[in-house]
Amino acid sequence: MIINYTCQNGRLVFELISEEDDPQTERIFTIFKTTTQVELASNKFEIHLPSDWTIESVHPDVLALAMMAAIYPFIGSTIRLPLGVSKSFHNIVKRVTQKQVLPINENLSPRKASAHAVPALTYSGGVDSTAAAILLPENTHLFYFDRMIPSDGMRTLLNQEAAYYACDSMSAIGRTVHKIKTDMQYIRKPVGFNSYLADAVPALLLADYYGFDTVGHGQTLDIGYQVGHLGFKDCKETKVGNPWFRLLQAVDLTYTLPIIGLSEVTTTQIVNQSPFREFTQACSRGKVKQPCMNCFKCFRKSLLEKVMMNHPLTDRYLDQLFSIKDAQNYFNAPPPIYFSNILAYITSHYNGHHQEMLSLKKKTRGDVLQIDWMNKWYSKSQEFIAPKYRNDIKNKILKYVDSMNAEDIQTMKQSFSEAYFKQG
Ligand SMILES: [Zn+2]
Repeated sequence: MIINYTCQNGRLVFELISEEDDPQTERIFTIFKTTTQVELASNKFEIHLPSDWTIESVHPDVLALAMMAAIYPFIGSTIRLPLGVSKSFHNIVKRVTQKQVLPINENLSPRKASAHAVPALTYSGGVDSTAAAILLPENTHLFYFDRMIPSDGMRTLLNQEAAYYACDSMSAIGRTVHKIKTDMQYIRKPVGFNSYLADAVPALLLADYYGFDTVGHGQTLDIGYQVGHLGFKDCKETKVGNPWFRLLQAVDLTYTLPIIGLSEVTTTQIVNQSPFREFTQACSRGKVKQPCMNCFKCFRKSLLEKVMMNHPLTDRYLDQLFSIKDAQNYFNAPPPIYFSNILAYITSHYNGHHQEMLSLKKKTRGDVLQIDWMNKWYSKSQEFIAPKYRNDIKNKILKYVDSMNAEDIQTMKQSFSEAYFKQG
């Protein structure tokens, strides 16, 4: 893949020119083990950076990593960039991904973050990234991926009002928030991110402009370790960690995933105990303080919120939730149900008589499973916190929850194992 660019007043436009061995369609692993076919749908995308940003504002190795994160499934054997990368970065990428980053600039030293550098976090306004922001130091720069809507009349359910409100509220209490406009998600069809590092591309491009020594996002245990879905996998081996964990280290931007050892249950608890609760909203389709109540996320997150707050689940409320078509699609798909563990947690707390809720309880085994591990922290995940910030984040986490013990970890690994689903 050949990458060209133009940049005027901070409006950075990348052009992609495919080479012979670059895949045009690719089966990629999305969350957990379901695969989706993605297609390269556009050979251009843009990102709006501060007006005095130029290509010299970023170390060429970081620029290369940002491009890899943006278009990963469509890179064949080689990615060719407008600026040469360090020999050391080239070699690490080759070793980790079997891909070549070219050209090489023999005179370029690898990137080193400055001693005054601070963390960067991808922030969506939702529960999980808010919990991550709470755990990171207050000088962390938060990056909102501001999705440009194409003018060609493409239909979208996306409504960013609630997210903008969350960003503005975060700024108002003194946190640094950048809303970076981009149409990067339209490179592929279906629309979306090409890798788990893709939403960090704005932070990467600005890593030397603002001075960062770590980047991260708000993925949880459920996703990072594929818990609740055909077992358990080390996060360094999942699409969340691989190859990004090692490539970020190569540019001195150690991956920091503050909540990768916490389930959605705990992130909900952390946000509920914070003043941020007032403006945090998981749904990306609703309006300010009005989630759409018509998507699977609304189904899961609003039930979880009620359970965590000990609020009653009335039949009327459950009728409304079970009428969500998007949620029914998930329940009727072959097992495992998406986020089974969270649904098991929710239903294990339900003692009413609502038929569909009871049937979901049985299906996700909320009636028999031990679920207490979801209230705790998987401490091995601290390898995904940059050493500079590790103790501080760890201490903050332990103010909210305990560490999982050996028995909790065993339950976590076995509850949704492949063996279970085969026998089911
Ligand atoms: Zn919704």
